[in-house]
Amino acid sequence: MVNRKLGFVGESVASAAEQLESIRARMERARRRFGPPPERVELVAVSKTFDAAAIRPFLEAGQRVFGENRVQEAKEKWPGLRAEFPDVRLHLIGPLQTTKAREAVSLFDVIETVDRDRLAGVLRAEMRRAQRELPVFVQVNIGGEPQKAGIAPVEAVAFAGRCRAEHGLDVAGLMCIPPEGVPPGPYFAHLAVLGREAGVEQLSKGMSGDFEIAIAMGATHVRVGSALFGARGQGGRGTVNPMMS
Ligand SMILES: *Cc1c(COP(=O)(O)O)cnc(C)c1O
Repeated sequence: MVNRKLGFVGESVASAAEQLESIRARMERARRRFGPPPERVELVAVSKTFDAAAIRPFLEAGQRVFGENRVQEAKEKWPGLRAEFPDVRLHLIGPLQTTKAREAVSLFDVIETVDRDRLAGVLRAEMRRAQRELPVFVQVNIGGEPQKAGIAPVEAVAFAGRCRAEHGLDVAGLMCIPPEGVPPGPYFAHLAVLGREAGVEQLSKGMSGDFEIAIAMGATHVRVGSALFGARGQGGRGTVNPMMS
């Protein structure tokens, strides 16, 4: 895919389309097999570390919802792509510092990582200022891991309530990243319980390795990166997906 050589544009679009179709087919099978609702699961294509040239074939193949984890990186890549594809919807899926909230509100359409009162308050102020009402997700540190962002599970329902009532945010749902190296199912199930208690409809959970399990546990949004774009280099730019080259 992500064939950056000129003259192969058509080929990389075809590969991107195949990759998208295969992931969407797996999502749909999981959704039908495990029901109950959601009626549809949104694929958030996680394009972090991949450059605009690598992302474009996926846009040309019809994908419109993307996830990025860093404000600075999104700022470098997305304004240009948005000019070409104005109906893109960009989700922020990485931790957000309050000092970057203004930029985040102008660059993104959904903020998935609201996890503290101070951030919620600053986001609200920036949304007012920009006259842009973005839906947000409350990120839950579902495994209680010290190194991970997110509100503690026991505080999540009350925090989601405060985000609405005190901070005036449009809380669309909950988001989580389960611990690595253990089966994710119980964590995904726990998020679903918290979502019901918080009275939210949407659940963002599941990545390349576990999105079908997440769908079985009621995900409305899955965030899939490497299964679409190929492996990411160690902290570096994305590398070519062997399935698509
Ligand atoms: C990178 C990332 C993903 C995608 O991970 P893959 O395993 O490549 O699908 C999903 N969610 C978050 C928060 C991420 O940072």
